[in-house]
Amino acid sequence: MIEVNNVKKSFGKSEVLKGVSVHVEDGEVVVILGPSGSGKTTLLRCINFLETADSGELTMGNISVNLKKANKKQILHIRRKMAFVFQNYNLFANKTALENVMEGLVTARKIPKDKAKEQAKEALDWVGLSDKYDYYPSRLSGGQQQRVGIARAFVLNPEVILFDEPTSALDPELVGETLDLIKRVAQKGITMIVVTHEMSFAQDVADKVIFMDEGVVVEEGSPAQIFSRPKEERTKQFLSRII
Ligand code: ADP
Repeated sequence: MIEVNNVKKSFGKSEVLKGVSVHVEDGEVVVILGPSGSGKTTLLRCINFLETADSGELTMGNISVNLKKANKKQILHIRRKMAFVFQNYNLFANKTALENVMEGLVTARKIPKDKAKEQAKEALDWVGLSDKYDYYPSRLSGGQQQRVGIARAFVLNPEVILFDEPTSALDPELVGETLDLIKRVAQKGITMIVVTHEMSFAQDVADKVIFMDEGVVVEEGSPAQIFSRPKEERTKQFLSRII
């Protein structure tokens, strides 16, 4: 179970998150929708301490941390339970696909290299890259790089994976296969929070959809509720523009 409470974050004078709370049950897939600039990415980054929130609290299982004041030890503890999949893959350019997937296992998880290599190979096989172990990111397509990104997250066996618009940098013809892979991750029962503009993915895969606008959660509910019977005018307007 993950509980995010009352997260606030400003950049300069602009208040990007105005007290956002999100509740995610174990094994749930939560999709966050909303217009560009509504604070979705900032929320994910605050949850993973890639950005320091101005206030807010995160509870995972039996630990609660203050998102502003968490100390190094607490941050490491939370990070060990999470993995992040970035919009722009964020692979190490000077490492091969295999080394990219091994990196977190060796440095963060302290797993011996031989064992990490075996696990990384399995993860790359699972995402369909068994013939690309030794390729550097520059020689992989966007879709393949994102597969490495997903393998790198998945291999850590995290309690939750945060996906930040994982398909928005991809050529349109590569979006479907990447979403299919993310669905396979969901089928493994891993808790996921996914920021995306892919409505059909949200409809198919989400247990819960959260609609954000201007730094607040406007509405949340099951995909059926949000897509078929949205209550709030802002949700209706957003959906009418996008679907
Ligand atoms: P979304 O993911 O919903 O598109 P973001 O969280 O990326 O929204 O951005 C919300 C707002 O915060 C935007 O106006 C964006 O320009 C601003 N913002 C995000 N990151 C920074 C930053 N590091 N510095 C200044 N402004 C930022």
